[in-house]
Amino acid sequence: MEKIAVIGGGASGFFAAIHAAKGENQVDIFEKTGKTLTKVKVSGGGRCNVTHNCLNPKKLIAFYPRGSAFLKGVFSKFAVKETMSWFETHGVSLKVEEDNRVFPQSDSSGTIISCLQQVATELGVRIRTHAKVEKVLPLAEGFEVQCNGESCHYTKVIVCSGGSSKVGGYAWIRELGHTIVSPIPSLFTFNLPGSSLTHLSGISMPHSQVRLVGTKLSYEGPILITHWGVSGPAVLKLSAFGAHWLHECEYHTEAQIRWNGDMGEEKLRSELLLYKDRFPKRRIGSHPMFSIPSRLWIFLLNCAEIEENSIWMGLSKKQINKLVENLFRFSIFIHGKTTFKDEFVTAGGVKLEEVNPTTMESKLIPGLYFSGEVLNLDGITGGFNFQAAWSTGYLAGTSASQQ
Ligand SMILES: Cc1cc2nc3c(=O)[nH]c(=O)nc-3n(C[C@H](O)[C@H](O)[C@H](O)COP(=O)(O)OP(=O)(O)OC[C@H]3O[C@@H](n4cnc5c(N)ncnc54)[C@H](O)[C@@H]3O)c2cc1C
Repeated sequence: MEKIAVIGGGASGFFAAIHAAKGENQVDIFEKTGKTLTKVKVSGGGRCNVTHNCLNPKKLIAFYPRGSAFLKGVFSKFAVKETMSWFETHGVSLKVEEDNRVFPQSDSSGTIISCLQQVATELGVRIRTHAKVEKVLPLAEGFEVQCNGESCHYTKVIVCSGGSSKVGGYAWIRELGHTIVSPIPSLFTFNLPGSSLTHLSGISMPHSQVRLVGTKLSYEGPILITHWGVSGPAVLKLSAFGAHWLHECEYHTEAQIRWNGDMGEEKLRSELLLYKDRFPKRRIGSHPMFSIPSRLWIFLLNCAEIEENSIWMGLSKKQINKLVENLFRFSIFIHGKTTFKDEFVTAGGVKLEEVNPTTMESKLIPGLYFSGEVLNLDGITGGFNFQAAWSTGYLAGTSASQQ
């Protein structure tokens, strides 16, 4: 029989506890706040985007800016298919939306919370709230877990304490001898103070591309112009994959937008020239091209120093080139970031090289396991962060449950 302490009552902690509670094992969850599963409750706008319908683990790992190599091993044991079938088997009907995000049929995160709490209770998992673990001390046999002035003995410990924006939040894990990769934000939008683009707030382009100048990083997807800058899936992806670069330049750098991400530069130019030939007397501003919304089209014409009331016939080669430049390489100057409120995650945490990806056991201290966002791994938006929490939680729990 194992006596297992699970530190953290979030998604990963519950999943680890449930899978550790086999046979005679006694499992206790320590949660420092008064409530468990608080992030699950607010996730996905209250609907909880449980996972992403990407059934091929090799494709799945591409959605993780940090930890993809580590997750290859993890997902080969427990990935999306297993997660969906686990929830379905435990009474949660799931649905896959058009963009492949997976939600409970009920559209309520409460369904996921009730399921996890009910299964944990049935398995005899004990939940201690207002129980902040201050120290974990490895002993010759097992561990001493110090919490609220008490010391309890456990044979195994699973750390599922989530991410922290401050390195100090990991101090007690560092004391165990583990290396902490400094936390930095991921998944944020770009601020463009003073840019006249923000006057077009509310306009979105469904198939754009945004590229970080000075890097090879560029991502396609919808871009949304906001009051303070640019947002949307393409921007969020770039913020996640470029998190370190952007952090190093203190969120002051240049990026370029290709408004029609799927159209090459020469194709754009030839379409403009063809249009000029076919409709020489049309006013340029009144017929936006490439499905660009009218206000954005006129804005881009202005940037190319083209009067919106002029006719195509009068357009010089230089003006066409300038328009192509603005359509294909529209420069934005990022000055600061805004955290994406719906799915903030921390990049950084326990160094992955110190954890065994097939068991989640520490390579430094036998009997100590890690799962979830406390590890230096993170995904982009779309259910990938919960998937990592379920998969690593499953592995940590099942491995710890064995003697
Ligand atoms: C607003 C929001 C919406 C999100 N929406 C989605 C979504 O729809 N889909 C998705 O995939 N991801 C989403 N995410 C990300 C996702 O919630 C996290 O990746 C996931 O919750 C990580 O789970 P975890 O169990 O590792 O950590 P957490 O959920 O952070 O849980 C860790 C727990 O440990 C506790 N704890 C910490 N230190 C101690 C200690 N010393 N002693 C005791 N307890 C401790 C904390 O209080 C916390 O309850 C969202 C995040 C946010 C903030």
